[in-house]
Amino acid sequence: MSEEESLRWSIVEACRNMRGLGLNQGTAGNISLRWQDGLLITPSGMAYEEMQAEDIVFMTSEGRFAPGQLPSSEWRIHCDILSARPDVQAVVHAHPLYSTAFAICRETIPAVHYMIAAAGGPTIRCSDYATFGTQELSEMALVALQDRNCCLLANHGIIATGPSLSKAMWLAVEVETLCHQYAIARQIGTPRILSDTEIAVNVEKFRTYGLRERS
Ligand SMILES: [Zn+2]
Repeated sequence: MSEEESLRWSIVEACRNMRGLGLNQGTAGNISLRWQDGLLITPSGMAYEEMQAEDIVFMTSEGRFAPGQLPSSEWRIHCDILSARPDVQAVVHAHPLYSTAFAICRETIPAVHYMIAAAGGPTIRCSDYATFGTQELSEMALVALQDRNCCLLANHGIIATGPSLSKAMWLAVEVETLCHQYAIARQIGTPRILSDTEIAVNVEKFRTYGLRERS
């Protein structure tokens, strides 16, 4: 199998895992991976069970793709993040339940757990609202992602990025877990927020902790 084919299959597999990981229902999520001078991205509106490696769309960084193919409606977000952030190799977008509930309330997630360090800082921001699939939404997502690896999209869902697809998927699950814990904590009592200094210590520790991968 060529390197490209294996990357295509890794996207298909990640899509199929999204439901089991509690990240998505239906065909809502989409995933991209940096490849050559562009990216490989999930197709628009295709059931994950039916998706094959050849259905993954190759797009140039300017957003061009082969005729007859249809990339995810959120391709602008994927293109723009990969262009603006050389540290990012993979982008995962999904509508997980608890994260999306906070996005509906347009709340920034504070440092309620040290695992927020995985986001790259003491908060997970929520973007302003724009219609799905628009350039405006892509620009707002980039603002919310400033100095962070993930963000919420107002009344929509989440974006998680990473230096690999497995790390971006791991982060998406961590964001949803954190939002789930925060939602429960707010029902039980008054969540106590960790200081920026404490999170900075954790961000530093996270450079050598987190999901380890075989090199
Ligand atoms: Zn979406």
